[in-house]
Amino acid sequence: MEERTEIESLGEFGLINHLTQNNETKQASTLLSIGDDAAVIDNFGRQTVISTDMLVEGIHFDLMYTPLKHLGYKAVAVNLSDLCAMMATPTHITLSIAFSNRFSVEALDEFYEGVYAACEKYNVDLIGGDTCSSQKGFIISVTAIGEVTNNQFVTRSGAQPNDLICVSGDLGAAYLGLQLLEREKRIYLENPNVQPNLQMKEHVIGRILKPEPRLDIVEWLQKNEIVPTSMMDISDGLSSDMLHICKQSNVGCIIYDEKLPIHNESKEMAMEFNLSGTSCALNGGEDYELLFTIPQSAYEKILTSEQISIIGYVTPIEEGAHLLTRQGNKHKLTAQGWNAF
Ligand code: ADP
Ligand code: MG
Repeated sequence: MEERTEIESLGEFGLINHLTQNNETKQASTLLSIGDDAAVIDNFGRQTVISTDMLVEGIHFDLMYTPLKHLGYKAVAVNLSDLCAMMATPTHITLSIAFSNRFSVEALDEFYEGVYAACEKYNVDLIGGDTCSSQKGFIISVTAIGEVTNNQFVTRSGAQPNDLICVSGDLGAAYLGLQLLEREKRIYLENPNVQPNLQMKEHVIGRILKPEPRLDIVEWLQKNEIVPTSMMDISDGLSSDMLHICKQSNVGCIIYDEKLPIHNESKEMAMEFNLSGTSCALNGGEDYELLFTIPQSAYEKILTSEQISIIGYVTPIEEGAHLLTRQGNKHKLTAQGWNAF
């Protein structure tokens, strides 16, 4: 009998690894291939940074509570976030879409309004793509292209013991926004006369519907001449993503529970849902904040940014990856993140 391995048994990263383990690069210009937030290609001394991502209806978004304009904006934003995670400046995107006849021209216009708004805001040109039909569901694929000079891109693999671990903005809000939208959807489906109550929830809802790539942080780091030793964007959740940095840098880490930046509105929402704010910050996905490590020598400079929190430090690999709680307990970091399979 022919062998059959379930995808589930490998998981997302196991599968990518399986499919690409024998992939060899042939071009001298391929500076960085599979395994980071983006790939890097050399162009006579300048470097082009490329990343691609897909958004699938029913998996990544629910059109019942996602306005198409926001979806268009988000499709671009999350791709630019991967370029920011390399410390690259975004310059171009291509955009491919597949949709059923359930969509009208007006609906697609609305989607493109969001796409163009993001291109405008981040100074990026839409230069191509592909359009086709799908039997069911809306599928979006964006490829984002950016640039760096003098090989100043930052990978996931350069963290060193004693480096400080930093994160931009606040964590867990997008996950809580999603919980809130899902709750209001259930209430609406049970009784369409009930209007959703989303007042005073702007932060968490904004974070799930309209994420922003942290180009401002990249520019701030450049201006202050801080060169992170490693960096990635948080799409699956801090725990899962920090473990990628640890694995690829061959290091361990200590993260302090009390240092995790959590917005007040997120704390309130977490209570309302009987969740722990810490666990939302660690495991909630889609924050699109930057997670990076810096040498201790940059400590004083980092303190001057109100947008960046120091949440822990890098350790030798033998010490493993841990969360230290307020009570002084040590918990192993685990990748609970999102797993589409
Ligand atoms: P991110 O969350 O930062 O977008 P992913 O976790 O999606 O990154 O992907 C990890 C790495 O695997 C990236 O380098 C990506 O380009 C690569 N990758 C993902 N899927 C495939 C695939 N089907 N074939 C080749 N490379 C892939
Ligand atoms: Mg990424």
